[in-house]
Amino acid sequence: MLESRSLSVEFGGVAALSDVTFTVSGRSVLGLIGPNGAGKSTFIGAASGLVRPISGNVSWRGIKLTGRRPDQMARLGVARTFQHARLFPGLTALENVMIGSHLSGRSGVFSAMLRSPRWRKDDAYLESLAVEAMESVHALHLAQRLAEDLTAGQQRLVAVARALAGGPSLLLLDEPAAGLTDAERELLAEDLTRFFATRDMTVLLVEHNLNFLMSLVSRIVVFDRGSVLAEGTPTEIRSNPAVIDAYLGA
Ligand code: ADP
Ligand code: MG
Repeated sequence: MLESRSLSVEFGGVAALSDVTFTVSGRSVLGLIGPNGAGKSTFIGAASGLVRPISGNVSWRGIKLTGRRPDQMARLGVARTFQHARLFPGLTALENVMIGSHLSGRSGVFSAMLRSPRWRKDDAYLESLAVEAMESVHALHLAQRLAEDLTAGQQRLVAVARALAGGPSLLLLDEPAAGLTDAERELLAEDLTRFFATRDMTVLLVEHNLNFLMSLVSRIVVFDRGSVLAEGTPTEIRSNPAVIDAYLGA
């Protein structure tokens, strides 16, 4: 269970999240939506330990996530993507994804980056995990390309593959379909549906494209100006007057 308890975050004294409370049970895919600036990325930041709350916390299977270091997150099986892909530009797509495979590999991300002897020993194993993850999102053809030569959409797919590669138990995706063409987005929705169905994992999905989001999630939380505005099934959310006012617009 993923649980946000009275989570509040401020940047320079300005509230980005105020008293955010909700829970996601077990093996499910939760959508997180809301207008620009509503605090969606800030929530993922807090849940992945990068953003420190002023009060409250986010926990996963009863373990507090807020304030933890990236290596602790990896050991807890938490993976995330960023709103901007954040790949290592001079590494190939495959090498970038292998840095994600360390989650279930035996060496840490730093030895992976430094190519230590220990990394070389695990190399074949990590590569097989990375190849599998790239295959699962139809990105394997990009494996040997340098990240800096990829389009924004391709970089996004590689970043998603990197998050999947370690076989996370909690996956936080920040707008994974942004910058993709319509065809790429539909393919990614199918790929993720298949991936989620065969894994024991909880997913939090932030996405602006509502058709993409609605096809993947079982429940939705709506943020507005740093607070929870509504929570429910896709059908409930679509017909919620407050959500239509604040977000879906008319
Ligand atoms: P969303 O992802 O829903 O568009 P964000 O979480 O990115 O929203 O932002 C929520 C609010 O916090 C916005 O007002 C934004 O300007 C502010 N904010 C986000 N990150 C920072 C930061 N690192 N420093 C200062 N303000 C920030
Ligand atoms: Mg955002």
